Amino acid sequence: YLQSMPKSETIRLREKHVGAACQLFFRSSPLKIVRGIAQYMYDETGERYLDCINNVAHVGHCHPHVVEAGRNQMSLISTNNRYLHDELVILAERLVKTLPEPLSVCFFVNSGSEANDLALRLARIHTKNKDVITLDHAYHGHLTSMIDVSPYKFNLPGGPEKPEWVHVAPVPDIYRGKYVYPNDSQVEEELGILYADEVGKICKESKRKNGGVCAFIAESLQSCGGQIIPPDGYLKRVFEHVREAGGVCIADEVQVGFGRVGTHMWAFETQDVVPDIVTMGKPMGNGHPVAAVITTPEIAKSFADTGVDLIGDVRGRGLFVGVELVTDRETRTPATAEAKHVVNRMREEKILISRDGPDSNVLKFKPPMVFSTQDADRLVDTLDRVLEELDGNRAPVTSIKLQVLVTPIDETKTESSALNTNVKQSITSS
Ligand code: PMP
Repeated sequence: YLQSMPKSETIRLREKHVGAACQLFFRSSPLKIVRGIAQYMYDETGERYLDCINNVAHVGHCHPHVVEAGRNQMSLISTNNRYLHDELVILAERLVKTLPEPLSVCFFVNSGSEANDLALRLARIHTKNKDVITLDHAYHGHLTSMIDVSPYKFNLPGGPEKPEWVHVAPVPDIYRGKYVYPNDSQVEEELGILYADEVGKICKESKRKNGGVCAFIAESLQSCGGQIIPPDGYLKRVFEHVREAGGVCIADEVQVGFGRVGTHMWAFETQDVVPDIVTMGKPMGNGHPVAAVITTPEIAKSFADTGVDLIGDVRGRGLFVGVELVTDRETRTPATAEAKHVVNRMREEKILISRDGPDSNVLKFKPPMVFSTQDADRLVDTLDRVLEELDGNRAPVTSIKLQVLVTPIDETKTESSALNTNVKQSITSS
């Protein structure tokens, strides 16, 4: 019945070829599911199960509208979003209509993990801060960048270490958490304040130590924490603390969005707040790889202004490394002025690097062989910071370009070889 091999053979092949970390439900007696319709799934014997697990099949397994739309589109074209396509803009407009102002700019990705990863990138570029606040027991995805902000993963025995820029606030669980209800004096709203002020404490500390917060990321009803409904007023006050510390607020709607909470389309609406960035996951495509990040025009603009194509190529062996900077990855236009700026900024940071190549746009790294891992970490961290600075602020680069171009023209007037020499001199002397 709808199977290519007996169940025992499926188990054997899975054990042989699928990573053991990818765990099965009901491990001692796993289910083999061969078909789904609406809220039901069927095993290989035709037994029917009522599915209360799969939020991702949001409008039901194999919903005929989804199947038809998928079939139609797959038979027409599946291509790059750098082409114009009506469906893409229709989807963006429909999604935005469900959201409060000023959430109006969409980025489409493939999964909830990717959406949250992009959300953090937007937050970092917009705020220029690093500290991220997450809630205890939170899960935001399986990418390395998401494990960093998912205590559900990094708190596992033998799990990865929490990075120093990640700060964990207590989950606002009024049944089993740090502050519980009922309690002699506290009503629910007071508990909301107590929990929110825990985030406030982290914000103040981050502002004092590191100049501010990058982002607060949370589900508005926490799933991996055990279906936690925060007390009234919690997110409102959290958002105030985070914004006061220069950070942005990210609502992860991967599990709780698209009307799951019953009263509202988006879970954050139950707390009467408007996030700066909203992330959506696979329920959006009924389980197919469609996901989104929706943000404000202001944050989207910071991202557009960044020139994120700057690193064209990284190559090398051992302690012989080149990083080629380009202003456009497709045309591979050399980012000569930017490379010069990076070399000078690194010098200010007391790290000496050089640049080379016919267009002087390749950063060169060939330190003495006693170079340590610590040295490498310092170099990479500093370079990262300098490149981020450059992304966030193009003005100095533009002025370097102008300086390089204008000086030789005044001096030489005619000869192009002299012009080139002067351009080179001007690059070395300025
Ligand atoms: N955020 C939350 C709250 C999730 O539950 C998940 C996974 N279901 C993700 C992010 C990651 O989504 P994906 O599996 O599509 O990468």
